Amino acid sequence: MILLRPKRLPPFFGGFAGFACWPFLVVRADVTDLESLLLHERVHMREQARWLVLPWLALYLLSRRFRLGAELRAYGAQVRAGQITPERAAEALTRYRLGLDREAAMQALNRYLSIG
Ligand SMILES: [Zn+2]
Repeated sequence: MILLRPKRLPPFFGGFAGFACWPFLVVRADVTDLESLLLHERVHMREQARWLVLPWLALYLLSRRFRLGAELRAYGAQVRAGQITPERAAEALTRYRLGLDREAAMQALNRYLSIG
């Protein structure tokens, strides 16, 4: 993993603290809670390494269903590690253009955590 800490992320990633594009992990320089973000992004990076990064990124960008699954696995790992609450994870899930409001995100997260 190669960690990059730019002052700003490209406009496409506006509002996010970082993103993974194996083998690079890009995290805004002003982010101080690295541990939590690293766990989240490592889930994505492991999947990218397994699937090959370009197919993973294409599916992530083009498929809501794939993106939801990827984010549920990443936020689920953070919740299981006790790094964030399920409520905070559900709130975060509403920012990924998944068509989910907070309640639907909470239901999806609870469903994932109960079976994942
Ligand atoms: Zn993510």
